[in-house]
Amino acid sequence: MNFERVANIKKSLIREMFEKANEHSVNLGLGMPFLKTTDLVKMRATEAIRNDQTFYTPNQGLEVLREEVAKKHSKETGLKISGENVLITNGATQAIFTLMFSLLDPGDEILIPDPGYPLYEAIAKMLRCKVKRYTLFWEKDFDIDVDEISRKISDKTALIVLNSPNNPTGTVFKEETLKHFAFLLESRNISVLSDEIYKGLSYEGVAMSISSFLPLEKVYVISGVSKEYSMSGWRIGWIISSRQNISQVLKAHMYTVSCISGINQIAATAALKLGDRGVRNAMRFNRDLALRELDKVPLIKYKKPVGGIYIFVNVSAYGDGKEIADALLKRENVITIPGIAFGEQGRDFIRISFGVDPETLKKGLNSIGRFFSYVEV
Ligand code: PLP
Repeated sequence: MNFERVANIKKSLIREMFEKANEHSVNLGLGMPFLKTTDLVKMRATEAIRNDQTFYTPNQGLEVLREEVAKKHSKETGLKISGENVLITNGATQAIFTLMFSLLDPGDEILIPDPGYPLYEAIAKMLRCKVKRYTLFWEKDFDIDVDEISRKISDKTALIVLNSPNNPTGTVFKEETLKHFAFLLESRNISVLSDEIYKGLSYEGVAMSISSFLPLEKVYVISGVSKEYSMSGWRIGWIISSRQNISQVLKAHMYTVSCISGINQIAATAALKLGDRGVRNAMRFNRDLALRELDKVPLIKYKKPVGGIYIFVNVSAYGDGKEIADALLKRENVITIPGIAFGEQGRDFIRISFGVDPETLKKGLNSIGRFFSYVEV
């Protein structure tokens, strides 16, 4: 059959919700902060065009950008790494694909969180890998349960995905949990994909990286400028790992993508050099605003997000998450994402993004509050 790898891959429910919406819908489904790119970054990019920096760049990425990424990760984790440990990609999305494509063989098992970002499972399926889901338990504030992961590991397990701060739950995995997890993997030949795209958006202290506790030979840190710098459209992401691992993944990158736009890499370099431009503060403000509004709805439950840009709301007192998200769109024209988009564990939930500007957020939450005041229990 043609298209065998992709024929059974479904369009994500996130996309489906967007397609059902109209131009007047209030979109609390979007996975990005609303802040515009800083003027200085825009200036660097336009200068790059004017200066004819419009040719191929090195396959691995511009050295200046790789060095900035290495400096940032070293500062945040205490690790001593250099630009040789970094591969620049077309957003975190390509980083995840290229890494999994390079690392995994058909039939390998991969452990993915439930609830979790849908991309990992879709890619694993395309690569004919066996997906096992491990649970982020409500009772544990959605932290990982290392004992459950341990029970799910088999001699075929090749990769475990971690995502902290987490999409969709807003959890930041605790330091002691990560240490316990590292201990579990110390003597096993299993790699870890640590998706840290929301690391800079952590509201109560620093989000730790598993790379502080496990050697880079086993860990692939994925990140980029999409969330922390609110630069999702520039499509700059990266993988951090050991030099040896990066040199392997580079081969797949080289023969699929070749290299990333130099103009965009120059913009990302400028953003990293500038550092924090207030995205985290804006998102913390939005989170608090959203929680104040949600607290007025009597029967919903949530765990306060400590990172990322989402609130994962248990709406089971009112109905199934998909029914509620569909009804919210139909009756109030507000887009939220049914929790089931993130796995079985999300069935009772909807995901609300607080990445939008505060006015839109207020408008959307007012409508949500009104909806829950008349919806039948
Ligand atoms: N990883 C997670 C957990 C995400 O939520 C997203 C985007 O929503 C990505 C990766 C993709 O990031 P990028 O825009 O850099 O491809």
